Amino acid sequence: MSLRSRRLLLLLVALATTPLFATEVSWPTSMDRAVLRDPEDFLQPTISGKPESALFGMVREEGKRFHEGIDIKPVALNPAGEPLDLVLAAMDGHVAYVNPHVNGPYGKYVVLIHPDAELAVYTLYAHLAKIEPTLKVGAGIRRGTPIALMGHTSAGVSAITKDRAHLHFEVGLLLSTGFNNWYATQPENRKSPNQHSLWNGQNLIGMDPLLVLGAKNPNLLAAVRRQPVALSVVMRTAKTPDFVKRYPMLSRGDAARTSHWYVEFSWQGMPLRWTALETTDPALPVGRWRLMELDQAQRAQLIQRKMLAPDGRSAGELLQQNVEILLSTAR
Ligand SMILES: [Zn+2]
Repeated sequence: MSLRSRRLLLLLVALATTPLFATEVSWPTSMDRAVLRDPEDFLQPTISGKPESALFGMVREEGKRFHEGIDIKPVALNPAGEPLDLVLAAMDGHVAYVNPHVNGPYGKYVVLIHPDAELAVYTLYAHLAKIEPTLKVGAGIRRGTPIALMGHTSAGVSAITKDRAHLHFEVGLLLSTGFNNWYATQPENRKSPNQHSLWNGQNLIGMDPLLVLGAKNPNLLAAVRRQPVALSVVMRTAKTPDFVKRYPMLSRGDAARTSHWYVEFSWQGMPLRWTALETTDPALPVGRWRLMELDQAQRAQLIQRKMLAPDGRSAGELLQQNVEILLSTAR
């Protein structure tokens, strides 16, 4: 059995035997989860038709393209073939962002944040047909509340046809409140202003949503920590990065007294653990950083994800970008 089919089977077993999402997390669509017998009952594959293309990870184009969430298909269609499924808030929280325009790959999308979870994760709901008009940024929202109608909106390279309508669902962490400043300094962005402020996909780092949706008693902090470390960097800061202030449970040591950090990342680029250091060896100038260790077993995937350069030894484009965004409030 391949790894992927084993993963699908494990999920199927979890769905069949556990009181699902009984605590803090709800399934993010109105589909009756009691009818979920097989992952194919909820996954909406790409035109490749491969079920795993709807999962999180390097699941597209023969492992060359990353998918930062899961794609959940509709179960009810109107006579014109458009979804009737509602999109629901997965956890209690509040509205962080509403984008009612079809101006990027996410199409119409909503971001919620969940400060009452063990870790204040965001959830993101994309390709929506219609957003609940009463949804306002800052307003509180209860788990299970309808926030939109499922759709297939996207201004990406290729349109999503209505027979492939789905909810793209993400769970993850916000890299930095300094993102807008970082974005403005990038020469390649001169012709494309940031339309989504902090809720731009480049500033959001997702994890496998099934770590949360597939768990019996989801604990968001435990789910983040369950991800294996793939590589580490050291950095020297002038101020405490806002990431450490926002997610203090991901750091250890005295943030107030240090200006040196050892930061461990997952393969997809999520900072998992920050350790305060006395110093770095060799010493780094303020605002600089260096790649330290990497897990050789994850090397191929790190290169595909551009966390490592093709040489397999130096930092790749994505690692550079994420570290620079993280440092944007710390120089
Ligand atoms: Zn998707």
